[in-house]
Amino acid sequence: MSLQRFLEINPVDRFEENYKQFIDENSFYGFPIDPILKAEEALLKPDVTSIAYFSMEYGLAPSIYNSFLIKGEVSEANTFRRHELFSNMRSLDYFLDIQIDKMLDLPIYSGGLGVLAGDTTKSMADLGMSVVAVGILWNKGYFKQNFWFRYGQLPEEMNWDPWNYPGLIPLNKKVKLEMRNETLYLKLWKYYVYSYDHRFVVPLILLDANIDSNVEELQRLTDQLYRSDNPWWKIYQRVILGLGGMKALEALGYNVVRYHLNEGHAAFAFLEKARGKSDEEIEQEKKSFVYTCHTPVAAGHDRFHINDLRIVLKDEDIAILEKLGTEPDKPGVINLTLVAMNASNHINAVALKHSWVMHNQFPDYKDRIIAITNGVHTLTWISEPVRNLLNKYRDVLGDWEKDPTNLKNVESLRNNWDFRRDLWNAHQENKRQLVSLLWRWGVDENSFTLAWARRIAAYKRPSLILRNPDRLVDIARRVGKIQIIMAGKAHPQDNLGFTFIRELMDKIDALYEYRKYIRIMMLENYDTYFGKLLTNTVDVWLNNPLPPFEASGTSGMKAILNGVLQLTTLDGWVVEAEDKDIGWIFGYRDETNDASNEMNLRLDEDAEALYQALEEVVGLYYSTNKGGEVDLSSPWIDKMINAISQASYFNTYRMVNDYLNKIWEVDRAFATA
Ligand SMILES: *Cc1c(COP(=O)(O)O)cnc(C)c1O
Repeated sequence: MSLQRFLEINPVDRFEENYKQFIDENSFYGFPIDPILKAEEALLKPDVTSIAYFSMEYGLAPSIYNSFLIKGEVSEANTFRRHELFSNMRSLDYFLDIQIDKMLDLPIYSGGLGVLAGDTTKSMADLGMSVVAVGILWNKGYFKQNFWFRYGQLPEEMNWDPWNYPGLIPLNKKVKLEMRNETLYLKLWKYYVYSYDHRFVVPLILLDANIDSNVEELQRLTDQLYRSDNPWWKIYQRVILGLGGMKALEALGYNVVRYHLNEGHAAFAFLEKARGKSDEEIEQEKKSFVYTCHTPVAAGHDRFHINDLRIVLKDEDIAILEKLGTEPDKPGVINLTLVAMNASNHINAVALKHSWVMHNQFPDYKDRIIAITNGVHTLTWISEPVRNLLNKYRDVLGDWEKDPTNLKNVESLRNNWDFRRDLWNAHQENKRQLVSLLWRWGVDENSFTLAWARRIAAYKRPSLILRNPDRLVDIARRVGKIQIIMAGKAHPQDNLGFTFIRELMDKIDALYEYRKYIRIMMLENYDTYFGKLLTNTVDVWLNNPLPPFEASGTSGMKAILNGVLQLTTLDGWVVEAEDKDIGWIFGYRDETNDASNEMNLRLDEDAEALYQALEEVVGLYYSTNKGGEVDLSSPWIDKMINAISQASYFNTYRMVNDYLNKIWEVDRAFATA
C-alpha cells in the first residue's frame, strides 16, 4: 500500500530500471517510507497551514549527516576522494595528498547561504513542520577547485550524476513557463530531508531545465550555480527559482499559505501571485510572503536593467516589477531586494547587527525589518566525541538532541571536574582525527592549532594572519609552535578572489624556513565535509571579516558547539555573544552600520590587533596543555564551556521557532497534530 501511494504521489522516472532496488513498501533508501506519505498528505490538505521555502542553494551535507543507504557502492561520479594541499613544506606537497573515502555532497550549494538553507530544512523536519522546500538541480554543481601549484586556483567543471545520487529521485512531471519569446520546461526532482529521529520529512523540489523539450541554450540554464556571464543568465536563473517554483507547487497540488523567500533571488515568485490582479488584490497577496535578507553590502543586492528584463519577461510582469522594485534615483533599474521587501509582509535580517546595517541602508523600511539571528543544525555539526560526552551528562542537560536550547544547562557542570576532564579528552579525540589526516605534514595533537576556512572575499580578509609574517614567526618562536589550517574557494569569475588565493600561497611558501615553528597548510575544495572536520577539531576558529560586512557568519557557530574557541572581530552573530567570553575579540569596532564602501580594509591595524590577541591565546594554550598534561583549572576550559552554552542559542531549532512565531504567523504548521 505504501509503495503504491508513494508512486501515485511521486511518478518516478525510470523507476523499474534505476530506483526499484532502493524504494519498497517500508523503506526509502534505508529510511522509513511512512513519514514521506504523512508529509505529502499534509501538504495536500487545505486545513494544514503549510509553508514553501525558496532558496537558490541547499547545502544538505549528506556525506556527514543522515546519509541514505544504498546496496553496493556510490557511483564513481558521486564520490570525491583525492584532495591536494598546499603547505610551507614545499616539495612534500608533490608527493602527498589526502585520501578520504567520501560521497560527494549533493553539489547544489556554494557556501554559507546554502548551508543555512540546508540546516533550516533539517530543523523544520525535526520540528515536524509542514514545509516544502524549493530549489534548483544544478547539473554541474558549483565548481571543483584544483590547486595549481603556487599559482593559485584552477576551477574545473564539476561532473556529477544526478541519476545515481542516493535519495534523489526524478519525477515524470514537468512544468511549463511561457516567457516573452520562448517556452521553458522544467523537470521536477525530489529529495527528502529527514528529521533527526526519522519521524518526519521535508520534501525538497528541485527544478531542472536540462531536458530535450527545451532548446539547447535553455537546457544549460541550470548547469552552474551563480553562473553570471551576462544578465540574461542571471535573470533566467531567478525566473526558474521564483516563477518555476510557484508553478511546481501548483502542479504538485500543494496547499501553501506562506512563501518564504530565502534571499532576494526568489523574488519573482511574487509575479505568479500578482499577475492579472488589481492593486487591492496585490496588497492582499503580500500577506502571504516573507523575506530573509542575507547581504549587508549595498552592491550585493541583485539589480537588473528593464531592457534586460524585457528579453525574458512579459510587459505585464515588468509593470509589476517597476512598481515594486524601482530605486528612487535610478529609473529603469529594478532592485530585487526592493521587490522582495515590497512584496513581503515581514522582512528579517540574519543577525542583530545586520538589522542595524539594513536600517541604515533602507530607512523607509526600518519599522518592518526585524532580526532573526541565523543558526546551525546541531546534530549535523556536532562531533561524535562531544555528542557522546553530552549524552553521558544527559541527566543534567536534559534532552538536548531534541531541543538544543537545553545546552544552556552545561553551565551547571562548570565545577564538575569529571566533566572538565571529559570535555578536554573529547576535544583531544577530535584533534586526533585531524592529526590522522595531516601528520605527514608534521601536525601533532599537543601543538596549538588554528583554522581559517571560508569563501574567499575581500571583506573576509583571507590573508590577515599572514600580513606580517615576521610577527607571526616571532610569536611562535617565543610562545610556542603554531599550526594553521586554511581553506576556501573563490568564485571562478572573481579575479580578485583568484589573486587572494595566489597571495596566500606565496605567503605560505615564504614560511618554508620557519617550518619548525609554524606549520601552515591550505586544503583544496573547502566543502561541508571539511567545514565539519575543521570546526570540530582545531583549538581556535579564526574569523576576521571587516565589520560591518559579515551579515551573520555561521562557521563559528559550528565551532562553539564543539567547544572550539573564537578569535574574531566584532561582527555578525558575534556581536550578540560579545560578553559571553567564548574566546577573544580583536580589531576594528564599527559604529557606523554603513556597509557601502569596503575600500579601506584596515589590514595593517587589524593584523597588529590580531597578533596581540594571538600572543595571549597561544600563551594560554601552552599553559593549559603542557605537552599532553592538562591543567583542568585553566580558564581555557571555562571558555569551552561558555562556548557550548552559547550553542543553545545559535542553532536553527531556535531560529525556525522564531520564523514560526515572528514572521510566518500561522497556527497549524505541523504535519501531525
Ligand atoms: C558553514 C559553512 C560556510 C559558512 O560559514 P561562514 O562563517 O559564513 O563563512 C561556508 N561554507 C561551508 C562549506 C560551510 O560548511
